[in-house]
Amino acid sequence: MQISTISFDGDMTLWDFRKVMRHSLKYTLVELQRQVPTQRVLELTVDEMVVIRNQFAGEVKGKIWNLEEIRLRAFEKTLEYVGCADKELAVHLNAIYRKHRFEDVELYPDVISTFDVLAPQFKLGLLSNGNTYPERCGLEGYFAFVVFSQDVQIEKPNRRIFEITAQRAGCELAQMLHVGDSLENDVAGARNAGVSSVWLNRESVPNDTEIRPDHEVTLLTEIPTILGLGGK
Ligand SMILES: [Mg+2]
Repeated sequence: MQISTISFDGDMTLWDFRKVMRHSLKYTLVELQRQVPTQRVLELTVDEMVVIRNQFAGEVKGKIWNLEEIRLRAFEKTLEYVGCADKELAVHLNAIYRKHRFEDVELYPDVISTFDVLAPQFKLGLLSNGNTYPERCGLEGYFAFVVFSQDVQIEKPNRRIFEITAQRAGCELAQMLHVGDSLENDVAGARNAGVSSVWLNRESVPNDTEIRPDHEVTLLTEIPTILGLGGK
């Protein structure tokens, strides 16, 4: 069946989520250290904050879906960890984090040029386990459908989220191509749902898994060629 629709993963596919997340945590940490300059707080690191957040997210997996709530609660946990439990301060830190986390997202340089080639021929959409909103990072108007796991309460690689995406896109699963950086979530998830897959391997790391993508690229600009367009 002919591909009519392309769904894109977000984090680490269209934007460098790790970079904006760590950069936003850094601003938050500086503010925390300014407000509470105890030895324990001065020794706190961004790495520890990431660990605390991920640990908490693991504990509430399947119970709390909203990623912004998880982030706020993770700041509460962080303050408990450094011996200064304070819900109001957590709200303040969360506001600083959110400002940077949502305003400082940078698209990878190959996104817009690729979308401009694909958009006239294909229906494009976002299928994300994250919470970066396309209208806040320069992608307003490109997507015909947007599916966030936190809204449908199903995450990639579950095949059900690919079915929901195809429904929203108004196409058959076999007409969809999914592009993402995660072999497990994006490639295996797509394959299991009967969706074609492109593994975006920006760092050209070896694939030491059993998961085989239909296509592998190091840049999004290779995708038009895969689909028979001129490309760049
Ligand atoms: Mg990703």
